[in-house]
Amino acid sequence: MSNHLFALIRSRMPEAGKPFLSLADGSGFDYGATLAWSGRYANALKGVGVGIGDRVVVQVEKSPQAVFLYLACLRAGAVFVPLNTGYTATELDYFVGDAEPRLLVCTPQRAAELGGIAARLGAAVATLGSADDGSLADAARGAAEGFDDVSRSEDDLAALLYTSGTTGRSKGAMLTHGNLASNALTLADYWRFSGGDVLLHALPIFHTHGLFVAINTTLMAGSSMIFLPRFDAAEVLAQLAKATAMMGVPTFYVRLLQQAGLTTETVGHIRLFVSGSAPLLAETHAQWRERTGHAILERYGMTETNMITSNPYDGARVAGAVGMPLPGIFLRIVQSETGQELPQGEIGMIEVKGPNVFKGYWRMPEKTKSEFRPDGFFITGDLGRVDDKGYVHIVGRGKDLVITGGYNVYPKEVETEIDAIPGVFESAVIGVPHADFGEGVTAVVVRKPGASVEEDTILRTLEGRLAKFKQPKRVLFVDELPRNTMGKVQKNLLQAAYKDLYGRG
Ligand code: AMP
Repeated sequence: MSNHLFALIRSRMPEAGKPFLSLADGSGFDYGATLAWSGRYANALKGVGVGIGDRVVVQVEKSPQAVFLYLACLRAGAVFVPLNTGYTATELDYFVGDAEPRLLVCTPQRAAELGGIAARLGAAVATLGSADDGSLADAARGAAEGFDDVSRSEDDLAALLYTSGTTGRSKGAMLTHGNLASNALTLADYWRFSGGDVLLHALPIFHTHGLFVAINTTLMAGSSMIFLPRFDAAEVLAQLAKATAMMGVPTFYVRLLQQAGLTTETVGHIRLFVSGSAPLLAETHAQWRERTGHAILERYGMTETNMITSNPYDGARVAGAVGMPLPGIFLRIVQSETGQELPQGEIGMIEVKGPNVFKGYWRMPEKTKSEFRPDGFFITGDLGRVDDKGYVHIVGRGKDLVITGGYNVYPKEVETEIDAIPGVFESAVIGVPHADFGEGVTAVVVRKPGASVEEDTILRTLEGRLAKFKQPKRVLFVDELPRNTMGKVQKNLLQAAYKDLYGRG
């Protein structure tokens, strides 16, 4: 038996001198160096006692060495557990306690703060800084580059990714070698990645999008990446001329549109723009097309399932839709409570099945059981519908559904109507406790710069467009919507901020 995912990566690796990862200053690592450095890191891991199945919790800044560490974990048969760099020591306490890693890798700056947690929970500590510094970087530098990849089957764990958990405890999604390999192969093929591609990478690498969608797809196709430490609109614009593809969250596209330098010339070399992790506004899609001539390809996925659907590469990329299920992936829309499949076109719970779907939540057998149907379909928690051409449309998370006076209101439907009103940039519709209705439909709106649209204009406009029960009871204005690092609107924060809007009844 070989190492399922890394053997596949090896089998598709181009010649040693081909660039894999380039930094903004032009320096970088070719495929030969990537193999050598991942081997050194694998030996360094072994040196501190990391063995098969051991978790390695990693909270470090984005750097080439962090990518080598990810590959080293695969090769050593360890389970890579990346954490958001924003997590505090208290949060780390929970993750380390839950994952029970053999090793915690953190930045040299946090070693003192996190060392106590690791010691108490029985994990060793090593450090890795973004300037190739720290104890693990030193150990890797001194280690041999040759490493015998540990045998792993497709069912063995490759990574544990904690969900962002806006409600309740964050859960560790167990992703296998087979999950990651199948999705990477599918995406490289579906999006036509080849050795000639250069992907502009400005996403964080602790999340499925920047880590698996971007890096594994690059590796599968033997492509190259321009690896930026973070998203900075001016820097991205400056680097776009050298790239052939970019993957981003919707916020990237919104910010780039604010740059005067974004023209058809700056993107002349690009063949593909991909967006995902949060809904892309139809207006952003249209503006991007107007400015650059490119139709952004929107796709949909989640930590637990990798990527599920994608707009077509050749066919129409429909604004506001996330496309069709990827090859080999089954998607159905069901009635949430009964699990009964709904007729085409109706809104319901999105469920998926395929080699991409995770193995379950780490040490949460009951939770895992309740999120899968007996026939193996995973209940995503997202509500959506499939249109008559087969495109999937997401209408929001099930938990964001507003139930007012016994009626279901899908936030997306109301948001789409509000967003079309002149002067509105974007909106978020939430349910707020209401004495008469249970929940009151409430709109939180961001105006376009310089616009002065008011609450009564919005309410009057919606009167003719939406049934009475769907019309917001109030419209509130904010300068911007609260978003997490992946660009998702944090409706839970809005709900908390406005919880007393209608009194406590
Ligand atoms: P995460 O696990 O952090 O990747 O979050 C997954 C969730 O992000 C999904 O369940 C969806 O609610 C949302 N999501 C991802 N991609 C899209 C998209 N293209 N449009 C709308 N929502 C999306």
